[in-house]
Formats: sequence, structure tokens, C-alpha cells
Amino acid sequence: MNYADLTKQEICENIEKIGLPKFRGSQVFDAIVNGLDLQQISVLSAEIKEKIENFYPKYRIFKKFVSKDGTKKYLVQFEDESIVECVLMSYKYGNTICISSQVGCRMGCKFCASTLQGLNRNLSAGEMLGQVYLINKENGGNKKDRKITNIVLMGSGEPLDNFDNVVKFIQLVSSVEGLNISKRNISLSTCGLVDKIYELADKKLDISLTISLHATTDEKRKEIMPIANKWSVNQIIDACDYYFKQTGRRFYVEYTLIKGVNDSQEDLNRLAHLLKNKTCHVNIILLNPVKERSLLATDRKFAENFCKNLNELGVSATIRRSMGQDISGACGQLRNKFLRKQL
Ligand code: SAH
Repeated sequence: MNYADLTKQEICENIEKIGLPKFRGSQVFDAIVNGLDLQQISVLSAEIKEKIENFYPKYRIFKKFVSKDGTKKYLVQFEDESIVECVLMSYKYGNTICISSQVGCRMGCKFCASTLQGLNRNLSAGEMLGQVYLINKENGGNKKDRKITNIVLMGSGEPLDNFDNVVKFIQLVSSVEGLNISKRNISLSTCGLVDKIYELADKKLDISLTISLHATTDEKRKEIMPIANKWSVNQIIDACDYYFKQTGRRFYVEYTLIKGVNDSQEDLNRLAHLLKNKTCHVNIILLNPVKERSLLATDRKFAENFCKNLNELGVSATIRRSMGQDISGACGQLRNKFLRKQL
């Protein structure tokens, strides 16, 4: 058991069980949300700290990189010494944190660095929360004065492959007693685990759903995304329609342009046909370089045209600004295992 996985009520119950007064539970909960490590909690005596030490989270920021565009990448280390990466991006409207949901990933997408070493393990809800708490604190925030306004589950890992922990994370991070981040400001990105999209829709969590589509035919998709062997493009789009029906939230489609793979006129026409009359928005992404991968990015001008044509064909689309590329903090550049050897 780890307190970071629990609600305030559950921590209070546990605190009483080990013979401490209930209000200590609230203090512990607040300290966790404030991103404090155990020794930093001034309201608890050394004796109490000793009693709760085994249950108190022991994650920490291991290293920080700052990009020339202001984006920050953090390596967060957990109790078992695993490390994940998360990224903080500043926009006019606030700060968005991109968190990891797994150590590694087993989805095997051909263009992505996060999956190069396969899946090491799932993160617990508390470990996902830890990324948010630590980085909020590191940027001068606390429970009352949040420095993080938006969360995207777009770091390492496939969030729907770690479904229960991710749902718990969303519930805890949006709870009024916690950081109270609106579910509308939380976005989950998936390569398309269709059965889980239906499950998520039925939970009516009110979060934004983003689909990493990247190809318009099953044949092409199979070339770059192994998950396409399990679920078809049409099944994904049906699941998105269901998500919209259940939640009233428009969905987002990510389409990373890869030179000569998915950027032809036929691709464009098929994409427009697939999404026409859907309540969705397409984020066009320029492939970010991953040194182990040989795939190339489409030229910027070409991408701008692709985007413009999509709009003209009646599909809402914009090019996503790439941030933190110089610190390998951009889409698809986050990685895990080998980091430890490198540092
Ligand atoms: N597993 C989830 C979460 C990862 S999100 C998913 O697949 O959606 C990261 C986003 O960046 C996804 O849309 C992913 O397809 C995209 N991506 C991966 N590698 C990339 C790269 N090298 N350049 C640009 N985008 C990439």
C-alpha cells in the first residue's frame, strides 16, 4: 500500500488504524498533494514520520532539462529506481504537463522512441500523480496555487493498456480535495485500444479523447502500428463516435506526417472522407527525429498544404507546434530504460 494511491478519506482511515489521530491523515494527504517529501513535512514529529514511512511515496525529480523554447523535461524516479520522463509546456492559457503512464511501452509503433525497449511495467495511479505533484511544486505551485492547468496522458506508455490505474489517476487528480484539475483539461491519447475506448466512454469521465491514427487504411496502419492487426480504422472511428455520443466531447485525431508513408494526396482524401461530418479536430504533427528510426518527416511547407487542404475538405485541422525537440522532449521522443545507463 502507498498513500499516494489513496483518497484523503482512505489515508485517514489507515492513519487511525495505526493509532494516530484522524487529522494527521489530512495533513499527510495535503503534504503529498503539495509534493513534499516526508522529511519536509514540518507539522509531523519524527515519531509520526517513522510510523508512516513505509506508506509515504518516495518518488523524486532525478534530473531536469530546459529547452531553448522554455519547455522543461523532467526525469522522475520511483522507489524501484525506474525512471520516466515528463514534460512541462507553457502556453498563453497556462501550463500543460505531459505525463507517462507506463515505464516503456509494448505497442511497438515504428516511429516512437518510447517503445524501443518494450514494456517494463505499469505505473500506479500514485506514480502518475507524483509526476504532477512534483512538477507543480518544482514550478512554485502547491495545492491551492496550481502551476499546472492541463494534463495530457501523452508521455511514455499506452494509457489504455494501464486502464484501471489511469482511471483512478484521473479521478484523484480531479478530485476537489486534491489538485482539483478539471477533467475537461485532461486529455488521454491512445493508439486505438477499441474495447477500452468503449469502457472509457461508459465511465463518462468528461476528459478529451485523442486517437493516434497516423494512417487511413488498415494495410498502411499495420506497417507502422502493430495495434492495427487487432483493431481496424473503422472500428476505431466507430468507438470515437460512441465516445462522442456518451460524453458529448469532440474527439481529436493525431496524424503524424511521415514522408512517403502517409502524406500522399490519396491519404489526404481518405482522411477527409473518414472524418467528414464528425465532431473532431485533427492535429497534424511533423515527425520528430528518433535516431534509431529511419522514418523521415514531411517538409513543413508540404505539411501546411496538407493541413490547408484538409480544412478545405471540411475537416478541422491545425499543425501542432513541436516543443522541446532540442531536449528530446517532443512527441515520440520520450524514452525510458536506457536512460539509466546514459546518465
Ligand atoms: N500511446 C499513446 C500515448 C503516446 S502519445 C498514443 O499512442 O497515443 C504520443 C503521440 O506522439 C502519439 O500520437 C504518437 O503517435 C506520437 N508520436 C510518436 N512518435 C512520434 C514521433 N517520432 N514524432 C512525432 N510524433 C510521434
